[in-house]
Amino acid sequence: MAGDVDAAQEGDVGGHGRKIIGIPGLRQYPEGVNALPIVGAVTTGRTLTVLGCDGSWPGPGGAGSGYVVEAGSTAILLDAGSGTFSRLQDWGDPGRIAAVVLTHAHPDHWTDLEAFATWAGFGPGRERFRAGNGHPLIVFAPPGLREWSHYSSAGWVDWRELAPSMVLTIGSMEARFGATDHGTPTLAVRLAHEGATLAYSADSGPSWSVEELGSDIGTFLCEATYTQECEGSFLHLSGREAGTMARAAGVGRLIVTHRWPTVSAEDLRGEAELAFGRSVEQASPGAVFDW
Ligand SMILES: [Zn+2]
Repeated sequence: MAGDVDAAQEGDVGGHGRKIIGIPGLRQYPEGVNALPIVGAVTTGRTLTVLGCDGSWPGPGGAGSGYVVEAGSTAILLDAGSGTFSRLQDWGDPGRIAAVVLTHAHPDHWTDLEAFATWAGFGPGRERFRAGNGHPLIVFAPPGLREWSHYSSAGWVDWRELAPSMVLTIGSMEARFGATDHGTPTLAVRLAHEGATLAYSADSGPSWSVEELGSDIGTFLCEATYTQECEGSFLHLSGREAGTMARAAGVGRLIVTHRWPTVSAEDLRGEAELAFGRSVEQASPGAVFDW
């Protein structure tokens, strides 16, 4: 039976010296395809919660790309792939999201914005985002994505167009963007809060480097879609390429994500660690990382 987490569970995670802390109100699932284990660390007040991390299509029980990034009093939804709005409600009240940042128009990164906007316009989010003195749902997106949405002209969705090299303040975080190597217009994101930095590659081929977002990246959430046998086949990265790039950029910590459901997590992380020269973490649904 699913039920709320009543008490914090603490323990060391993977020898990193961090703590597992259960999050009150985040539903705990039984084991199975919909399991959303609460793992990771909450030690700094800056967290990255993985809602979904399947690459290109959701595997059984999985979800596309979507992450909640929190720092200070601000929570940002970074990408909103299919299946992530359901999991956002397991994280907490979607009304707490200050803004949605969509990196590109590929469906596995944004289509649950439609569910969020429906909830905000007609469901329980109406009071927060639409009615009376509510504030609209702010959505940052690259040019052209808005036109794909059913809610492109909805009064309660405040669309704001992103461009490379843009610098924004979103609540307590500063956001910077850079164009990646992905065919369709795609923006990597660098978030900063009180001297800490988190970079997210979005999707990219190997011609882009996180160095373009700065030389001070503490935590790097990087796509690694497959293993090295597929290098050059698509504008994505292998585990080896992600590790090599992260090492050259001198990032503090590498978390790989966006793995195709058909690719071995163990093989992918193994080659990423070999290239990075240090341990590499892998995103999984429900994982919480500090940054
Ligand atoms: Zn993509």
